[in-house]
Amino acid sequence: MLKNKVALVTGATSGIGLAIARALAAEGCAVGVNGSRAKREITPLTDEISKAHGVKCVALSADMADPKEIAEMMGRVVAELGPVDILVNNAGIQHVSPIAGFPPEKWDQLIAINLSSAFHTTRAVLGPMMDRGWGRIVNIASAHGLVASPYKSAYVAAKHGMLGLTKVTALEAAEKGVTANAICPGYVWTPLVEKQIPDQARAHGMSEKDVIEKVMLAPQPNKKFATVEEIAALTVFLCSDMGASITGASLPVDGGWTAR
Ligand code: NAD
Repeated sequence: MLKNKVALVTGATSGIGLAIARALAAEGCAVGVNGSRAKREITPLTDEISKAHGVKCVALSADMADPKEIAEMMGRVVAELGPVDILVNNAGIQHVSPIAGFPPEKWDQLIAINLSSAFHTTRAVLGPMMDRGWGRIVNIASAHGLVASPYKSAYVAAKHGMLGLTKVTALEAAEKGVTANAICPGYVWTPLVEKQIPDQARAHGMSEKDVIEKVMLAPQPNKKFATVEEIAALTVFLCSDMGASITGASLPVDGGWTAR
């Protein structure tokens, strides 16, 4: 369906980003796989994806907190694969702490990775996409882009900001065949979620089992974690020609969380 398109997925070495990179490759895209790890650590993944789907796939090591590294990466992807048709801003981290004790340097790092990086990548691809008359930008936001939870000030602020960036991008590009949308997952079982369970247990003063049942799945009416494959499938749909009229949207995949 997306044969010969060039896709760039940030934070694609794990979890949701990796599932999206695999799904886009399965549709025939050449894929740039970004991660903050060294290139040699990403290459086994790109080799595997490339072999599985018969597409070109390149490892793009860059720290998404660093605008200079992002700029270099944006040049590299074009040099190695061609102009970017599909941009998926997915890289993200989490930090859980009450505001009063929230380390300012963590705030800066989280805003840089979860929000500012999407501005830098979008800024680099939007003009060329509009010139070519086709493009897809998919921002992996969160249910926390639509509603808040305690102890996640930087994350909630970044994800709300990402929805704003998505809407502005959509409006600027609407007449040029380029769409921009945000996917807002509830809890999806990935390393990011697994890692925050002990921190949430500390912040809430409860057991890890109670964090899963009473904090994470409590707001999700279907009481289930979403899957990375579900997020990847929606991304592929948004990138298809059938997704052409969906733009500026914030699409929850949250088991009903934000319907309350
Ligand atoms: P994950 O920890 O499995 O993957 C995060 C990815 O981002 C990894 O590839 C990691 O290497 C990359 N990354 C982190 N810091 C980076 C940096 N400085 N530079 C480049 N890459 C960096 O997490 P995930 O759960 O797959 O999350 C992916 C996205 O989905 C995040 O933006 C997250 O906020 C969002 N999200 C996740 C959930 C969930 O429940 N898992 C829910 C809503 C939104």
